[in-house]
Amino acid sequence: MTSRSLLRLALAGAVASGAVLLATLPADASKARRTVPVRLLALNDFHGHLEPPAGSSGRMVDEHGHTVDAGGAAYVATHMKALADENTIAVAQGDLIGATPLISAAYHDEPSIEFMDKLGLKVAAVGNHEFDEGYAELRRIMNGGCHPVDGCSPAGEWKGAKFDYVGANVLFKNPNEKTDALAALGAQQERARKLLADWGVPALPPVSVKWMNGVPVGFIGLVTQTTPSIVTSEGIKDLKFVDEVKAANVASKILKLVGVKAQVVLVHEGDQVNAGQSPDACSAIPGLGNRIATQVDPEVDIVLSGHSHQAYLCRVKDPAGRDRLYSQGGSFGRVITQVDLNVDVRTRDIDRASVVADNHVVTRTVQADPEISAFVQTWKDRVAPVANRAEGTITADITNTAVPSGESALGNLIADAQLAATKTGGNAQIALMNPGGVRASLGYASSPAGEGDGVVTYGEAFAVQPFNNLMQVVTLTGAQLKTLLEQQFTGGPNNQAFTKILQPSANFTYTYNRSAAWGSKVSDMKIDGVPVTDTQTVRVAANNFLVGGGDAFLAFRDGTELWSGPLDIDAFVDYLGTNSPVAPPATNRITAVG
Ligand SMILES: [Zn+2]
Repeated sequence: MTSRSLLRLALAGAVASGAVLLATLPADASKARRTVPVRLLALNDFHGHLEPPAGSSGRMVDEHGHTVDAGGAAYVATHMKALADENTIAVAQGDLIGATPLISAAYHDEPSIEFMDKLGLKVAAVGNHEFDEGYAELRRIMNGGCHPVDGCSPAGEWKGAKFDYVGANVLFKNPNEKTDALAALGAQQERARKLLADWGVPALPPVSVKWMNGVPVGFIGLVTQTTPSIVTSEGIKDLKFVDEVKAANVASKILKLVGVKAQVVLVHEGDQVNAGQSPDACSAIPGLGNRIATQVDPEVDIVLSGHSHQAYLCRVKDPAGRDRLYSQGGSFGRVITQVDLNVDVRTRDIDRASVVADNHVVTRTVQADPEISAFVQTWKDRVAPVANRAEGTITADITNTAVPSGESALGNLIADAQLAATKTGGNAQIALMNPGGVRASLGYASSPAGEGDGVVTYGEAFAVQPFNNLMQVVTLTGAQLKTLLEQQFTGGPNNQAFTKILQPSANFTYTYNRSAAWGSKVSDMKIDGVPVTDTQTVRVAANNFLVGGGDAFLAFRDGTELWSGPLDIDAFVDYLGTNSPVAPPATNRITAVG
């Protein structure tokens, strides 16, 4: 491991370097006896990356500013074992599952949960992606049982997660719904129920209490309240996702009710950063995560975050003006956040002055953990038949190589598939696909046996569309659609760094002029040959990444009447199956001049 820079919360900005841990710093022996040490090791946004993530997803800027290879379950395990001591509680901040590679996704992410159990994870906040397959499926992941449609995985009947999933701001819409979310509070659950009477009926355990060295540490789970706009609506139709701060404050009261004053928030919401900085820097730009970290009840001592896939260690002020740790550990198992703290045995509260945090990059220069390597290999072998399943055929290579207009044959094919998948439920009229999301090409001769028969396997299709993005449809005006297309080009108010030409469905055509000024480049938009007016409405299908304003396509955020549909990979595979043999689409939808 490289040298670690430590964020020491209470020492007025002092950042010590070297491997100094607070447990080695008792002022005197009697004082040392009055506090006990606790170490938290935290992960967030693992997203099922059992195998070392490839490309930029598998690289991380380290403490020295070097970009290094990072991540992979067997390396996470090695680093966790090296960092864990007898005072350790392993925790996580959500999106452990959902939007996962095929090795995990093919088995409804049971392999990833089993890995987390093997790591010794004790508590995790739910993330938005924990709801990707709906609340009922999340309950199955938590409690066990075989999948209602796909049955048991090759590993046999699912036993359920050994760790606790918590989510204090996830409530049932129906105030009379029966809940078992407070069961873990035992004799105190009636008092907790009374406390919640005017608040709502929790759909998930709001808190989890873990004992360490004779003191209880309470964990409050929170998930971004934007969850309903980023997961399929059907699966969460009985739930509401309420304000994170309000929910945390209610959960904090529940913990106090049961005598727990050492309180840690695990929140699946976070902030963006100024890129390229050390994972130990406070590079976070105050946003939705900072709001939560600064506003939750002063009784909360530490806020560990997630969702934005960034790494940072910040010291923020709580509402009482005291320093509070606010951190995140990147994504995909590339960073483990270590937090050391002391709990006062008498008051049972965390000594804020003792809190020290350190983000460790999960490098691959250590030896891979042999047990986890074998575990991952087992699932690789199991998924091979799924990966090799034939989904359709193509008549020639269909590549993601852009022609001068910016279209690619495969990008256009995906847009056509996305329109087909969203026409009925979402009333989509056109589809637009981000070029960066077309991750690989389809080769005519690249079928597993190499026989050159144009077969496209599920594994090949998944390599093209690996994000498990949701298809969504929003309503834009013609003028907003034009603004969206202007946002493809560098410059403009969003300061796009690159020109990114969205891949259009076959029925949508337009012209752009490279040499025209920003804002006047796009003209002649037509849907099915009919000109688009500024005031008409257009139902536009795109993946949830774009609809959320990804790649600086901020005009998507002005969309209304959001509809969420199938996964993008399912849309793609269905289209290949229905339309085989598929020929490479023409790349004549956009006319580029100038
Ligand atoms: Zn998330």
